[in-house]
Amino acid sequence: MLVTRRPILRQFCREHPMPFLPVHVKEQLFSRKSLIWVDMHHQLLKMVSATIDILKKELHLEQESVVLSEEVVNGLVLVDIINGFCTVGAGPLAPREPNQQMTGMIEESVRLTRLFCEKKWPIFAFIDSHRPDQSEHPYPPHCVSGSDESNFVPGSMEKIDGSMEKDGSNVFIDWIKTNSIKSILVVGVCTDICVLDFVCSAISAINHGFLNPLEEVVVYSNGCATFDFPTEIAQNIKHGLAHPQELMHHVGLYMAKERGARIANKVSLP
Ligand SMILES: [Zn+2]
Repeated sequence: MLVTRRPILRQFCREHPMPFLPVHVKEQLFSRKSLIWVDMHHQLLKMVSATIDILKKELHLEQESVVLSEEVVNGLVLVDIINGFCTVGAGPLAPREPNQQMTGMIEESVRLTRLFCEKKWPIFAFIDSHRPDQSEHPYPPHCVSGSDESNFVPGSMEKIDGSMEKDGSNVFIDWIKTNSIKSILVVGVCTDICVLDFVCSAISAINHGFLNPLEEVVVYSNGCATFDFPTEIAQNIKHGLAHPQELMHHVGLYMAKERGARIANKVSLP
């Protein structure tokens, strides 16, 4: 058994690097002596992946290549691209390990921020920020105002017109009206939480006539990301709620489209 275990484990690790698993869980996983246990886990991961594929097919999401018109004013909205949610180890709600979806979101958001800066198009950033005594159910204390968690991810968003902390003010409405923005492009985190909340609120406000002249909301899928909290960890935590990243990202985009947003998988200029 000793002779065969190592090659099998190596192959298993190659096929399933599992970047979402914290190091101590991986160590636990690979310190197990039983090949059967590893094989069962292997099969389980395959089943989860196949099930997610089935669900994504069932909730089919048509995405489009969006060319930003230079005839109208486009606004870029950055949702919570801050250390507390995006930088590895930066806080209780930050990724615990490097994550491909999160890295891609940052790269694309930076690319678009630069593009909008070059075009002198307006950019607006939401920043999650809380007073030390202000709780946000159901999350643990996070992104305390003035802490590094509430700062933009490094090297990215230096030239933004303005930003707002979520205090319910009308700064966003003023930004739309002052710049006569017709279309907004939304990127950030988390696809199925704050991005979706924002999209639903914006579309509702458009429908009620509060956001004139804004007409459309575009969500850029590769510029959004959500977090990963695997079932196998959640089930060992009291009140733990599993949050499989790929599926919840898809669901967030699907619901945004259901509410009337356009979903783009490519964004470019004419
Ligand atoms: Zn918060």
